[in-house]
Formats: sequence, C-alpha cells, structure tokens
Amino acid sequence: MMKASPPGWRTDVPSIWHKYPGGPGAEPPAGFRKDYDMLILECPCCGVKADETELQAGGEAHLKRYGPGSTDEEFDGYMFSRKNPKGVHFERWRHAYGCGKWFLAARCTATLEVFGTYPAQSKEPPADLQAKIKAKRAGWEGYK
Ligand SMILES: [Zn+2]
Repeated sequence: MMKASPPGWRTDVPSIWHKYPGGPGAEPPAGFRKDYDMLILECPCCGVKADETELQAGGEAHLKRYGPGSTDEEFDGYMFSRKNPKGVHFERWRHAYGCGKWFLAARCTATLEVFGTYPAQSKEPPADLQAKIKAKRAGWEGYK
C-alpha cells in the first residue's frame, strides 16, 4: 500500500524526504528529477553546487556601509533600507555546510532563476554576469 502525502504537499515533484531514498547529493532514481524544487547555487570558492540546505542567506549584497561620521539619514538607510525587488536581486550567501565561505549570487526573486554566483570580494557584479542578466531581462535597470 502506498503511503499518502501529507495535506498540502506537492505530488507532481519528488520530495527528498519522503520519496527520494538517496537524499541530497545522491543520484535520483529513474523518473525523479535532479532539481527537486530547491534553490541550488554553485559556490565560487569550492565549485560545489550546493542546495539550500547547505547554504545560509546573508541578505542584500553591495550595501554601502556608513559608520562614524555619517549622517543619521545615511546610517538609517544602511541599517534599515533594503531594495526587496520583484525581479533581479543580488544577495550574500554562505556555504555554511561546505567550505564555510561567503559569496554573492544574482537571482530573480519572482521566478527563482539563478543568473550566477561570484566571489564576495567583488565591488560589483562581473561584467559578463551583468550582460547575461540584461540579455534575459530587457527592462533591468542595473544593480545599483
Ligand atoms: Zn563552497
């Protein structure tokens, strides 16, 4: 007898926890998709394609920091104002259960499409990544 899925669970895609016996990282059985509806980011530090269970989100990337000597408005903006766009977004991520290093990722918050990842030390997204995003999102205004 087949066990029924809990209410609200999608049955059109495999869940790694109740249908996918190999678990994360294992080859899926025939008929199962490898991309099991999880966010997968390639860590630019170690090259591993990590799913979201291995990653820690770190908020918006490319924030301009303000500290001592800044105005209250500048510091307030740095502390509390975030873009939170519907569309292309640049984020900080840490490969928490891998190499442990921080990196940056560009993805679409509406479709969850990942455009690419790049080192955390980058002052701005790499030019080839920006060109790739512009080619896919004609109305994109740029990362700033
Ligand atoms: Zn890594």
